[in-house]
Amino acid sequence: MASRYLEPRLERASRGEMTRLQVRRLRAEVRHAHAHSPFYRKKLKTAGVTPDAVRTLDDLGKVPFTTKDELKENQAANPPWGDVLAVPFADVLRVHMTSATTGRPLAFLDTREDWYGFYHSYARALYAYGVRKPDLVMAAFSYGPWIGYWSGFYAAQDLGCLVFPVGGLTTDQRIDALLSYPITVLGCTPSYALFLAEAAAKKGIDLAKQTKIRITWHTGEPGASIPATKAKIEAAFGARAFDLPGLTEIAAWGFECDARAGLVHVHEDYCYPEVLDEADRPVGPGGRGELVLTSLYRKAMPLLRYRTRDVVQVAERTCPCGRTLIAFEGGVLGRLDDMKKVRGVVVYPRRVEELVRPHDGVDEFQIVFRRHEGLDDILIRIDPSPSLSRAERQGLTARLADDLRIGLGIRVTVEVGEPGSLPRWDHKARRVKDERTEVPF
Ligand SMILES: [Zn+2]
Repeated sequence: MASRYLEPRLERASRGEMTRLQVRRLRAEVRHAHAHSPFYRKKLKTAGVTPDAVRTLDDLGKVPFTTKDELKENQAANPPWGDVLAVPFADVLRVHMTSATTGRPLAFLDTREDWYGFYHSYARALYAYGVRKPDLVMAAFSYGPWIGYWSGFYAAQDLGCLVFPVGGLTTDQRIDALLSYPITVLGCTPSYALFLAEAAAKKGIDLAKQTKIRITWHTGEPGASIPATKAKIEAAFGARAFDLPGLTEIAAWGFECDARAGLVHVHEDYCYPEVLDEADRPVGPGGRGELVLTSLYRKAMPLLRYRTRDVVQVAERTCPCGRTLIAFEGGVLGRLDDMKKVRGVVVYPRRVEELVRPHDGVDEFQIVFRRHEGLDDILIRIDPSPSLSRAERQGLTARLADDLRIGLGIRVTVEVGEPGSLPRWDHKARRVKDERTEVPF
């Protein structure tokens, strides 16, 4: 039987072997950052930490955190690259930008070896989904400075797959390519997968029946680890959908595997994960907290204890696939930046999606946090499927209001509008509006 692992030695390493590898890489990374990155030399000096003080994984706790705001401020103060850079500029091969909702995006630089690490770990994930050399792969991300397209393209090529380049193509052209060529694997954001399926359906095309897609993978948003969203994508393409959480600044750090057990494995040899509670103490198995990652391979911009703002839960069980890599339950459960408080109740948009998507007849939705009659309120706007009758729309409104009230622990207002009234998303979706803080202009 062919192996289900691209790198069994690493993916099935004993805890002792993995720890030894991590310690060796961590010590090298801290020494390198201290010696060559002005940003880290200053940061470590201010914290009174010398590289010799970091000898074990537990010693990492002495190292101060790094935040994205800090990196952005650093680049703004020392334009254009900031002074995190720890290699001569001539050794840099790639630049990618993080997608920013506010301010200038962060520019992230990589050496040739850094870039190989990024796409090779990504290739390990594709292999875990079942992608193999004979596959024809479409990475349907935009061709530009964002890492999504490039990493998906290079990762598939790293496995020896033929990659169909569609970065600059329109959705219509991509649908045409899916119908005309034997493309078996598709990568895109979950929102774009649904957008693509809807665009095809409008033309009377059934992608599940009329294409050869057998595997889809999704990054940029947590949708593929939300069971109802995953099911919707799988039905639309007649394929198996997988989640790939990642960060431009660290790595394509996680992947679901073909055991489909609801777990996301972490490339622990590329980035060392800590999961910390509100007081920054490590949580044990079953515990939830913020994911903090330390890069164990990147040399151009070697981030130490980077606060991802992603909330994850450490798995208490092992995955039936046999991988020993640390795993998280259900992928990224929420983003601390997206967390909202409504009448004292914490609400994550992902939780709303978990409750809305299982309902047939929901084509798109929007979450509005607003002040209504003097009280904080959540309005869920629904874009219904055109096939629903007026009576069915009313039934849907009532069922959604019930499910959301029970699931969130707070009463919400549900409005079912006209089909096609809400915006669609061809990259990362922006389904959340907070009118309580947004200033109209
Ligand atoms: Zn697994």
